[in-house]
Amino acid sequence: MTKTILAGLSLEEIEKITETLGASKFRARQIHNWIYLKSVSNIDEMTDLSLDFRSKLKEISDVTDVKIKVKQISKDGTIKYLIEYPDGECVETVLMRFDNRANLTACVSSQIGCAVNCSFCATGKRGFIRNLSYKEIIEQVLTIQRDTGLKVTNIVFMGQGEPLLNLDNVLKAMEIFNDNFQIGARRITVSTSGIIPGIERLGGIEMQSTLAISLHSAIHEIRQQIMPIEKKYNLDELHTALKKYIEKAGRRITIEYLLIKDLTDTMESVKALEKFMRDLKCNINLIPYNSTDENGYQKPSNNSVMRFKALLEQTGKKVTVRLERGADIDAACGQLRGKVV
Ligand code: SAH
Ligand code: SF4
Repeated sequence: MTKTILAGLSLEEIEKITETLGASKFRARQIHNWIYLKSVSNIDEMTDLSLDFRSKLKEISDVTDVKIKVKQISKDGTIKYLIEYPDGECVETVLMRFDNRANLTACVSSQIGCAVNCSFCATGKRGFIRNLSYKEIIEQVLTIQRDTGLKVTNIVFMGQGEPLLNLDNVLKAMEIFNDNFQIGARRITVSTSGIIPGIERLGGIEMQSTLAISLHSAIHEIRQQIMPIEKKYNLDELHTALKKYIEKAGRRITIEYLLIKDLTDTMESVKALEKFMRDLKCNINLIPYNSTDENGYQKPSNNSVMRFKALLEQTGKKVTVRLERGADIDAACGQLRGKVV
């Protein structure tokens, strides 16, 4: 008999299991807490359940079926895990600590590979392999919590994959992060290359999560060159969709903007970006390019990043520069490719 995997189950689903074992709903609540809040790796660690009940539970279930294939720790404290699922496919998940240890951000993957194929991103180079189920997404955060003994406080869907092309699973995972892990919706960010039907759907949900848009250029020709998705959903359509989203959801969005030397960091680029975001309620997050393969792109100088930031700040919007995390272990944005080395 294949065992039921407890990680990823809702309280109601766990109650069904305890019922078949003739135990009360209270046992289900205890198991639920052990899985999501105390992050145990096996049933023996659930010490407030009787030995007899634990052995019955072990006969029909296991806590998890994923393995940590590789764990790397960066000089800056970022940890990258390569997680292996039962079918042998692997995906990265990254834990970042910002400022103080109270803020622990998990960067999760939503797919294995990615079909969007942006020219600057290592994940895209692999092509699309498959979607992750909501349980597989949740297992990434549980793996971090089990391994570190720490509680993740923020989630960003910025690992491998395009979350809005796997939205059913992403939404279900978000719900579980919110309900079971008790992570506030505002601490959950979904980043997208601009999949308009997905943005429309996200605009209609109750959860107050944050939407981040990988814009990277507000000039059609350049965006098309670096992000093939621009051919399907162009800047004009994206702008309209974002305006509607902001109105409907009532929330500010984040515009992510990749700075590639002499391509997206020019004066013409800054002007186009100012125009694009003028009537959008948004913050801007500048991302200096992280080197991946031999695509010929270069990181801009610090001076050029600061100049771009200062020019944008004149619009009165909040502009931040994303800190490069874990580049020494290929854990930084765009460097994830599901490989061991
Ligand atoms: N597919 C989604 C989420 C994952 S990528 C998206 O594209 O938004 C997370 C962020 O890293 C995106 O903003 C992406 O454009 C950026 N990124 C990709 N490759 C990068 C690179 N080489 N250097 C810096 N950022 C990169
Ligand atoms: Fe996919 Fe995002 Fe990488 Fe583009 S940047 S290829 S959408 S993961």
